[in-house]
Amino acid sequence: MEERLQQHLRLIFIPFSCGLFAVATALPIWAAPPRITSINFPSRIETQATAYGEINYQDPDQDVSYAHIDVADGRYYRLTAEAPTMTSSQGQMYFRLNCTPYAQQLTLAITLFDLAGERSAPVEFTFTCGQPPLYDFDTEQAQTLPVSQKIPLNVFILDDGETALAEGATLREDALLDTPRAEVLQMVRENILPKLTGIWDQCAVGFELADVWVVRPEEVQVAGGNLADRLFQREDSSAVIHHGLEAGNLLRQATSTLLQAAQNQEPRSAQALNVLIVGARVLTMWEGRLTDIEGFSGSGWPNYTLVRWGTILEDVTPKQMISTLAHEIGHTLGLPHPDEEGPSDAVLDPVNLMKGSGVTPQPRVHILPSQCRMTERALTEIQVRAAATSSAAPINPPVTQSGTAAVHWLSLCPENLCSGKVSLSVETEGFPDLQSFSFALFEYSADGEHFVEIGVDRTYQDGFSALWDTTKLPSGTYTLRATVIDGRGVRTSVLAKVRVRNG
Ligand SMILES: [Zn+2]
Repeated sequence: MEERLQQHLRLIFIPFSCGLFAVATALPIWAAPPRITSINFPSRIETQATAYGEINYQDPDQDVSYAHIDVADGRYYRLTAEAPTMTSSQGQMYFRLNCTPYAQQLTLAITLFDLAGERSAPVEFTFTCGQPPLYDFDTEQAQTLPVSQKIPLNVFILDDGETALAEGATLREDALLDTPRAEVLQMVRENILPKLTGIWDQCAVGFELADVWVVRPEEVQVAGGNLADRLFQREDSSAVIHHGLEAGNLLRQATSTLLQAAQNQEPRSAQALNVLIVGARVLTMWEGRLTDIEGFSGSGWPNYTLVRWGTILEDVTPKQMISTLAHEIGHTLGLPHPDEEGPSDAVLDPVNLMKGSGVTPQPRVHILPSQCRMTERALTEIQVRAAATSSAAPINPPVTQSGTAAVHWLSLCPENLCSGKVSLSVETEGFPDLQSFSFALFEYSADGEHFVEIGVDRTYQDGFSALWDTTKLPSGTYTLRATVIDGRGVRTSVLAKVRVRNG
């Protein structure tokens, strides 16, 4: 469920002192942004070969301090580039890059920053390493197929202090969700969404925007504190997400809170998939090791997809990031990696969207009809769940009734004292349509507010049940919740308070 990240290169150079003397004789021009006039770099290099490039620029106040290179397209690793040496004379910088060991087309974008924090407009340059194969991303985007279902997306940009996408957001006192600056909203609506649809139209699925928000993670309460403290850990000077079960639970709790706030502002959010974006400089660790995981997702309810956005530039949308987002949404819709449980024809497809980490230099784009069929159930379930959520009654009373439908506990912990693995089950009455479609969602909560999924049972014939493993939970009081939803969208929950004690 994870993708590898392309890294930024940050090239630093020191201006020659002769440039400073030249400035001393001229009138100072404050806060003048630099402007790149041209980039010279060979258009074709052999794989693994090194080439030198030249940036020509103008900067009236002569205070350019470094160049930032974003990966606009292609798979480019920090590891494959030596720390480039840069020198400068007035209006010129030089850089050195290594091509990757595999053939691909790369587009990099250079931005110059000056000492006053001003930056130039980004300028892209494209080159190929070796002889890349056919370029499927563009071909796929060019083929527009009819769409029969549009899924709304909630896009939450987490202001982790690292992502420039959160810069310039409009602060709203007391509100959990801030408004991003107009350019970011425009990028998501006019660039990301159409390109996601450009991939998913292979399954007749398209995407539309519920809304884009900037979120301050320190304001989002989760079990044990706030999201910033619980999700981001410091390793040296970097923020790190320890990818795993705990991060997944935190993200689901946070998403649940954000979704509630989003619904209050935009009712369509109730039917949306949730996309969380963090800056690419937030690192990921897996089992204690640093990884380049580019995104991951959880398909429980509420679902979430988290991606690390690998560029600071709103007018550059890396194809790799679109591909990763489309891939993670694929997981949310129930698609596995082909080499795990996927259909066999997808295993042979070199640029299949659902291929696992770091296997192809090209962005993955293909979705096969066999895979589209695998998403049908999830698409129906999302619609029904969303419809049920949006009309949900508050769940405070022990049994909530929806018409004549009711849910009762059948088996719970003896004397409400739970230990080890506990079999939970419920019985239902009065649901109009369990036959065509139904499921039960079992959850627990330590604080009565944030629920963690225990399991989903989709077969009603033998009653709905789930196995709750309490062995790793601290002793204490917990709230259990079982929610049943049927084919007509009738939704009813039952709660129970239990105590957990192990050992
Ligand atoms: Zn994956």
